[in-house]
Amino acid sequence: MCPPLLSSQSENRENGNPIIRSITACLLFLIFAPGLIAQPWSSGGPLSELQQGFDVTFFDISVEVLPEDRRIRGDVTVHVYPLQENVQDIELDLINHYEVSSVTRNGDELNYSHSDDKLIIQLGEVMAEEDIVPLRIRYSGEPPVARRPPWEGGFTWDEDRNGNHWIGLSKQLEGAKIWLPVKDHPTSRADSVRIAVTVPQPYVVASNGLLQEITEENHGRHTYHWFTRYPIHNYNINFTVGMFQEASAPYRTMNGDDMPVVFYVLEDDVIFAGELLEMTVRKLEQMRHYYGEYAFTREKFGLVQTPYLGMEHQTINAYGNNFEYTEIDGRKYDWLLLHELIHEWWGNAITVEDWTDFWIHEGITTFTDALFLWDYFSPEVYYEKMQEYVGNISNLQPLIPGTDITSDEIYNHDVYYKGAWFMHTLMHVMGRPVFLEAIRNFAINNRYGYTSTEAFMEFFQHYTATDLEPLFELYLYDTRLPQIELLLDGSNQYSVRITNMDIALPMEIETSSGTQSVMVSGVAEILESESEPVVDPRGWYLTANMFEAEMDYDGE
Ligand SMILES: [Zn+2]
Repeated sequence: MCPPLLSSQSENRENGNPIIRSITACLLFLIFAPGLIAQPWSSGGPLSELQQGFDVTFFDISVEVLPEDRRIRGDVTVHVYPLQENVQDIELDLINHYEVSSVTRNGDELNYSHSDDKLIIQLGEVMAEEDIVPLRIRYSGEPPVARRPPWEGGFTWDEDRNGNHWIGLSKQLEGAKIWLPVKDHPTSRADSVRIAVTVPQPYVVASNGLLQEITEENHGRHTYHWFTRYPIHNYNINFTVGMFQEASAPYRTMNGDDMPVVFYVLEDDVIFAGELLEMTVRKLEQMRHYYGEYAFTREKFGLVQTPYLGMEHQTINAYGNNFEYTEIDGRKYDWLLLHELIHEWWGNAITVEDWTDFWIHEGITTFTDALFLWDYFSPEVYYEKMQEYVGNISNLQPLIPGTDITSDEIYNHDVYYKGAWFMHTLMHVMGRPVFLEAIRNFAINNRYGYTSTEAFMEFFQHYTATDLEPLFELYLYDTRLPQIELLLDGSNQYSVRITNMDIALPMEIETSSGTQSVMVSGVAEILESESEPVVDPRGWYLTANMFEAEMDYDGE
């Protein structure tokens, strides 16, 4: 999901008085800051006993959108298979906003109950091992309206500048149960999905995967039939409706094949499509340099113009940044496009099994937002971006707060910015070339699969003799930060140590004779320098010293 806006990102949106600009930036920050309004739904957490018994392999989705009534009608077949013996009841998540009219299995009516946002279906017989059971669920109702998309999701019933319907859907934190019957948990990822969306003509529906056909329906409606053959997270199954035109550009894969980069753009904004598509192709090329080929080349890289800022919906990224590019030294880039595009590697191709590891989605993506700047502009722009992130870190709970964590419990600024800083520090400790090799191989080896912080650490440990565990413990499982003490011991002699924890960190220290690499620990290191040394001049470590004006990091 797109991060909350930083003040620098809003600079190109405003002009004039710097004080007004700064106030506006603060307001934007407040408006977009996550976690300020309680969410009525969250996703993930502990699996109920019934949901431990099965998983979903395929969704066959037919949904009709009724824009005038702001309602939807669903006809969805969920293919489930057993994970245990004696599975007889299937518990799906579907919010109470919908009325379920029938549940059938191969035409036979099944008994079910629907309350507390749970649809419990009685199969009537025990599922056989290897059995895949299609459960057809028909329902209709008024979906929740997104109050602050994408951070507080739901349906967005908007209009474009010409008064046409423009309908968006966002739900990463609420879970797909706000529009589909699903097993609402990060471990549940269908291996493919068919999505048919019926809308009034001549509206266009943009969705995941490839468009198979458009069929005419009665009463001036038509249906867009989409299909994705790749594993896909529930929250990534998505569609957007609008008066779109389709613009595209070819992306040449590493194998020499052409994959379409497709942009569903509002009619009035078609003139902007060419430049954005060109930027997209360049960014895809840059990302494959870091993390290997884009994972969904048999389909497309897709963008759709949305009435909300952004979201990484697989192969159909939501783009709501209004073509407002960031310009540095005369070169432009689109930070929002970049962020969502990176999620195709971190979040979509590789997914976590427990939201507790959400930093892997958002922290690595936010780190890569900065890494891109290193190569596209200069290392200095990268360092500036990392410093800019520091102000957004609150450090109120460990990045990994436990196990079986819900989206609501994990979602805060730190998964973006402290997560990004952890990657930044890891790059320093491992050395940039080794780090980049490790992360590239990790991304390639784990695509289409699940990962966790433990698996991540184990993989990276193979690339270095330095024991990485203390670093992971410090920045992911703890809120304490190292306090660095620098003392003048005598004439031109200084001592440096970490005062509040037992850890040794390789740090750069600038002295009058140049920059040295020093292992800073609880035991004082003595340095000779004619000028006062500067510890960690480029800023590789989050330290208590950075925060001490605001917070007390005495280890409590
Ligand atoms: Zn994100």
